[in-house]
Amino acid sequence: MTSKNELKYEFENAWNFVDSKQQKEVFGLNDEYKAFLDKGKTERECVEEIIRLSKEKGYVSIDEYVNGKILKPGTKIYANNKGKAVALFVIGKDELEQGMNIVGSHLDAPRLDLKPFPLYEDGGLALFKTHYYGGIKKYQWTSMPLALHGIVFKKNGEKVEIIIGEKEDEPVFFITDLLPHLSKEQQEKKMSEGITGEGLNVLIGSMPCKDVETDKVKYHILKILNEKYGIEEEDFLVAELEIVPSDKAKDVGFDRSMVGAYGQDDRVCAFTSLKAILETENPKRTAVGLFVDKEEIGSVGNTSMHSKFFENTVAELLALQVEKYNDLLLRRAMANSKILSADVGAGFDPNYPDVLDKRNAAFIGNGVILVKYTGSRGKSGSNDANAEFMSEIRQVFNQNNIKWQIGELGKVDQGGGGTIAYILANHGAEVVDCGVPVLSMHAPFEIVSKIDIYMTYKAYKAFMNY
Ligand code: MN
Ligand code: MN
Repeated sequence: MTSKNELKYEFENAWNFVDSKQQKEVFGLNDEYKAFLDKGKTERECVEEIIRLSKEKGYVSIDEYVNGKILKPGTKIYANNKGKAVALFVIGKDELEQGMNIVGSHLDAPRLDLKPFPLYEDGGLALFKTHYYGGIKKYQWTSMPLALHGIVFKKNGEKVEIIIGEKEDEPVFFITDLLPHLSKEQQEKKMSEGITGEGLNVLIGSMPCKDVETDKVKYHILKILNEKYGIEEEDFLVAELEIVPSDKAKDVGFDRSMVGAYGQDDRVCAFTSLKAILETENPKRTAVGLFVDKEEIGSVGNTSMHSKFFENTVAELLALQVEKYNDLLLRRAMANSKILSADVGAGFDPNYPDVLDKRNAAFIGNGVILVKYTGSRGKSGSNDANAEFMSEIRQVFNQNNIKWQIGELGKVDQGGGGTIAYILANHGAEVVDCGVPVLSMHAPFEIVSKIDIYMTYKAYKAFMNY
């Protein structure tokens, strides 16, 4: 006979299920994670690090295979999409046509991009104009140390990589806010208007150069940039430069149970899926770690999930695996795929309890989240995962002792959002959103739980290997 308690379901804190040995493993994994975050503050830097780590594990570029190498089960391949997105494959024992187990995350994070003609002088100060990228609350980006990351091309086409504002002895940059004494009008405005987009100008210098008559401070900056990087003002017109918080990833809490850092949406899912695929050998179905760009601005452009890059890469792999390639094989490979759309979810925040339905919200520490649907206003724009697939994933997680929970992106009609899930679902593949709950999502410093990171890594690994 079943007791009443056996019929009921309750979510439990995942820390309760790890012993002291596992706890060490959790903290060790998170030290690796923090190092990954510090190395990759832009999508380009993340791709570089992912490829470096995958090469160490025997991954070879797909470019080396198109010249007739044989694709065997267990072969590890990476495909680099313009240095901003990357896909890792471990070829399975089954034919590709039978589908892949894909974990897809995104590498871009909200930030401030420099405008094409950014440098100017005003009031004896030199500043950069910016255009924000992704969903930010503008006031959060003032009054904190900032760093500059990106690439500039010289007139001769030579590429210059810039990272400044990260090392101890390097200068940082800054966006000013108004002193409270003079903020009467600003404080009466709506929060979204207190700091404007055109007001996010970055302070970069204040010392004049004696060699010129006008714009002396601006010229001084140009002189320094020319000496250090060999660039001049025209080079900004074709550059890609991003302003990001200058801080390193840190432990949060007396118990060190959380990680605080910039860009954890979605590098927390990128890292955990990377770790999972790098530990995957000889899977039954081809395992894929997919890391895309431009999710934060709607998955548009040739490095995003909407680009044909992933399908083209799978077509190349099929052409290496079968005698005679035809389009039907690609369609089958995509449609037969199973996909975890690896993105973060909103965690319950006691400071803002009203935006989530507590019975259906994700909680920090309760493990990896399965999100059946996202969207807004009646699930609009959402990938609503099929119950059959949800059931299949539940079995995989439960059989592997993975602590998981459900999540929803806010109360009904509270707002909402989306991920890359629906784009992959368009191929006919089974897709469900699955990731880590976050506090202060999209803020310059976001919070996640170490145990959730650990459970997410275990979940992705189990999924890739079943
Ligand atoms: Mn995201
Ligand atoms: Mn996001």
